[in-house]
Amino acid sequence: MENEGKLILRKKRYNKFSFDWVSLLLLSCYVIGVNIPITGKMAVLSLLILGLIAGLGVVVKAVLYFTAKSTSDNPFKEPVTTPVKPKVIDQKKRDAVLKQGFSENKVPANLDAIVVGSGIGGLSAAAIMAKAGKRVLVLEQHDQAGGCCHTFIDKNYEFDVGIHYIGEMQYQSVTKTYFDQITDGQVEWEPLDETYDEIVFSEPDKPLRKYPVRSGIGNWPSDLKKRFPSEEANIDKFFALVEEVREGNTKSILVKVLPLWLVWFLNTTGLLNYLTTFYKWNAKSCKEVVYGITENQELRDIFCYCFGDFGTPPSKAGFPMQTLLHTHFQKGAGYPIGGASEIAFQIIPVIEAAGGKVLVRAEVTKIAIDNKGKACGVQVKKGKELYNIQAPMVISAAGLYNTYERMLPLDIASSSRIWPILRDLEHGPGAMSVFVGLDCPAEELDIYHKKNVWLFSGNDFDKLTLNYLNLTREEALDVDIPLLFISFPSTKDPEWNKKYKGKTTMAIVTLMPYHWLEQWKDDRVMKRGDEYEGIKKTFGHKAVEQACRLFPSIRDHVDYVNVGTPLSNQHYLGAPRGEIYGLDHTKERFSAWVNAVLRPKTDIPGLFISGQDICSCGFSGALWGGLLCASAALERNVFNDLVAVHKKGKAVKKSN
Ligand SMILES: Cc1cc2nc3c(=O)[nH]c(=O)nc-3n(C[C@H](O)[C@H](O)[C@H](O)COP(=O)(O)OP(=O)(O)OC[C@H]3O[C@@H](n4cnc5c(N)ncnc54)[C@H](O)[C@@H]3O)c2cc1C
Repeated sequence: MENEGKLILRKKRYNKFSFDWVSLLLLSCYVIGVNIPITGKMAVLSLLILGLIAGLGVVVKAVLYFTAKSTSDNPFKEPVTTPVKPKVIDQKKRDAVLKQGFSENKVPANLDAIVVGSGIGGLSAAAIMAKAGKRVLVLEQHDQAGGCCHTFIDKNYEFDVGIHYIGEMQYQSVTKTYFDQITDGQVEWEPLDETYDEIVFSEPDKPLRKYPVRSGIGNWPSDLKKRFPSEEANIDKFFALVEEVREGNTKSILVKVLPLWLVWFLNTTGLLNYLTTFYKWNAKSCKEVVYGITENQELRDIFCYCFGDFGTPPSKAGFPMQTLLHTHFQKGAGYPIGGASEIAFQIIPVIEAAGGKVLVRAEVTKIAIDNKGKACGVQVKKGKELYNIQAPMVISAAGLYNTYERMLPLDIASSSRIWPILRDLEHGPGAMSVFVGLDCPAEELDIYHKKNVWLFSGNDFDKLTLNYLNLTREEALDVDIPLLFISFPSTKDPEWNKKYKGKTTMAIVTLMPYHWLEQWKDDRVMKRGDEYEGIKKTFGHKAVEQACRLFPSIRDHVDYVNVGTPLSNQHYLGAPRGEIYGLDHTKERFSAWVNAVLRPKTDIPGLFISGQDICSCGFSGALWGGLLCASAALERNVFNDLVAVHKKGKAVKKSN
């Protein structure tokens, strides 16, 4: 263990999750408060004083946390000014970065940390650490880096696997500044159409009903008012609530950085609701809230139309989750120019510049724990060989279920504080993706450019979706799929024609329960037999047929269809039950206590968590998980550094 202790030498300071004097004072006040019976005016006065002291304590803790100095280097020293280089379109050159296969001699010496999983959650944490001077090894089980951000090429079509549109990237938001920092500003974003989404209700024997979702503050509400004039007041009410919850959304993260006992105190006393309204609203499901606002079922559906972006139907998801998405896309959406693989392609050099590496075909089978109970490395499986790699810190960005149920020794995992929580929570729903190649340019087709469609087979899609997911596989084969997300990714990428001139791609995503195909889970990929292939094809063609009904001009140009099932997600994305968004985004997951425990710093020394199971799914959710994780691992408030560099960048731009 020659590297052991390299990163963990620092003494506790105020910004650590330590039990210091403020904590002690608060706890004493609470204990005295609940144990000494005081009545009448005295009781009110005592409670007021206790409340004041507690409030003061929280403020002091927060100030200390957010202003404390750290001995780790600031990863975000200067705004990025590097000019954007021409895109690399030579696939061999791209593969040389994205597909660096694991071998023992490629593992750098004197590692500071190992990151498991090369999705944006793992890459972002690794890149921030690299920018703070740390040497990080990222290990990926698939044959290329990127996780949900990887792309695949088949029959001369290239498909994104898990990126269709991202908010806050097509303008200089704080998130964009963060992303520029970890890509050296090399990823450019193409804005989607002003109407980035369209909601379509397609019911048999009824005319199609289309509702565009227009970006820009106030645009969507005002369009809706024109379509539902008698609902004007209710539409205002809904968007006012979105605004109200928006305020609390950012502050909800506080529970992940305050000491857990303090979160418990704030939560049990109800004081947490004075810091953020998030948890109060999270107690209500999206369905409950929209049902309370209007009796118009179509409008109720429209308010929650994009629940498919996190996969949890409105009756199971807390209201804030929906508001997070509406605010995320309020100013529109963007798409990475050159496709989603640009993301990993541009982050990897930043990790390598500090001596790190991103190696693929490197399945981590075990997180090693030393005799003091500290994470001290990993075991990697390549083919039949097993390799042990040591590092003083392990960051898992491979999902909580993978980490605790597969990689950690059972005795360690089952005695951790997260274990009972994982028993209570659930895997997010499985999904099917259909990748379609069309043999002509997009301009020759009557399709949507730079815009997504949410196609529903009727009203009350919470009920429709839950009913569908409760069908048996055979029953499901006989009915229309109630919810389809359809987009034409090639139309979003201005670089597409440089590589794939004359071709167009369509992507369809929908929910599909894992158990429908679970019986083939142990069979080798591509060798699951005719029955599996037949079922997969039937579901896939059904989805394509539904898309053709909406876009008839594509019917004669379908040249390629490839269907990804929950088992494909399991194989290529390492998703244990074929889920595409990690933990299910239920109310329970976002309750204050659970949300607090789902933090990057675990109770296993040396083990940290990043990715979509920390904040939320989505590119941005996982990206912010990476920042929180790097903060915990570096013992430094990286958010402060980011805000500072963001302001600096703005000032520089202004002065030019
Ligand atoms: C079909 C689909 C469409 C989506 N569309 C959008 C969208 O339009 N916009 C948006 O913002 N978000 C979208 N998302 C969600 C978003 O892509 C994800 O939430 C986010 O990228 C997750 O990042 P992550 O790093 O947490 O996880 P992942 O990207 O899943 O990365 C985890 C990585 O860990 C690896 N791994 C697992 N186990 C091991 C192991 N034992 N050893 C080594 N490696 C391991 C996996 O192979 C994987 O590469 C979509 C997702 C999917 C699947």
